[in-house]
Amino acid sequence: MSNQLLREAAAKLKKAIPLMLKHQIPTTPTNYALWYAYVGQSSPELNRQLDEVISQYRTCPPSQGERLYQAYLSDPIELDVIEMRQNLDAMVTDLSQSLKDTNLDANQYQTKINTNFDKLNKIENEGFSIEEVLTLVKSLASDAHDIKNSTQHFTDQLAHAQSEINQLKIQLKKSEHDMHFDALTSALNRRAFNKDIKGLIEQTPEGLCLVIADIDHFKDFNDTYGHQLGDQVLKAVSRRLNESCHDGIKLYRFGGEEFALLVPMSQLGRARQLAESMRRSLEKLILKDKRKDQRVDNVRASFGVAQYQEKDTDSTLIERADKQLYEAKRLGRNRVMPMTH
Ligand code: GH3
Ligand code: MG
Ligand code: MG
Repeated sequence: MSNQLLREAAAKLKKAIPLMLKHQIPTTPTNYALWYAYVGQSSPELNRQLDEVISQYRTCPPSQGERLYQAYLSDPIELDVIEMRQNLDAMVTDLSQSLKDTNLDANQYQTKINTNFDKLNKIENEGFSIEEVLTLVKSLASDAHDIKNSTQHFTDQLAHAQSEINQLKIQLKKSEHDMHFDALTSALNRRAFNKDIKGLIEQTPEGLCLVIADIDHFKDFNDTYGHQLGDQVLKAVSRRLNESCHDGIKLYRFGGEEFALLVPMSQLGRARQLAESMRRSLEKLILKDKRKDQRVDNVRASFGVAQYQEKDTDSTLIERADKQLYEAKRLGRNRVMPMTH
């Protein structure tokens, strides 16, 4: 539609719409075209008949409007108006669809929708000009644009929040890990041990065994090779002991150079055997420090083993295992106690 025709159309609609509202004519494309032609006085016969219908019905019933439309309107200008209205309808439908499509914050979304619906209702209820129609379209477009922008912003914020949440999840996982694992040896820590021994005594105390291992003369390692190599020995011992952990057996760093093993649903003899095989495995351990050209092959450890007995608490069970460990040390180290069961 050329600018000239658009201006003419706008001027005519400006006259037509108040009339339509006055006579309570629904704003259908057909009626727009009809009243557009009416104010344009393009067909005197149409005006005469429409006047007659209005005086008879106080409005123009759809059937009459349809009939007059069929009879008198074929002019391209009228068709343009219809097209314009249809375009407008399509745009409104489009925009409200895109409003619906945006997953904007519910309140903001609702407010925008309501405002636009209010404006649409005004078209039905009050007089409006073609400029006002165009303003509404612009406002709808701008609202949709705003919503798109704020949705983009919202989406960006969501994405940002998501990546922050992911970071926090990783940190949380690490914190949870740090809470239960020893940083040097990667074995479970004393805190985890305290929790687990209580839990096992509560849930499956039958056959629960506790093994405490203590590296023999560890102080000498530090004195001879230095603290750093001492740390490497602790790591290697932890790894070695952990290799023998299966069937729910768990390794804990109990203290400095002490490790504990919780052996659930077992028996003293089997726990002794496990400790014995661990002891022998440590005997074979060889560590090489290439930088200092040093070799450590004299790692030995003593083991104390105890089995859960009725009325045991975590501390009485630990006490008995500790006692056996002390015995192992006293009898010359590098052994498992008790000797038999
Ligand atoms: P025993 O055979 O009687 O157990 O003698 P020991 O020397 O192993 O026992 P003691 O309790 O006298 O010494 C333990 C040593 O373990 C002392 C301490 O410096 C060392 N230690 C404890 N924690 C660490 C650690 O994280 N790294 C290193 N390098 N040494 C540690
Ligand atoms: Mg010790
Ligand atoms: Mg020791």
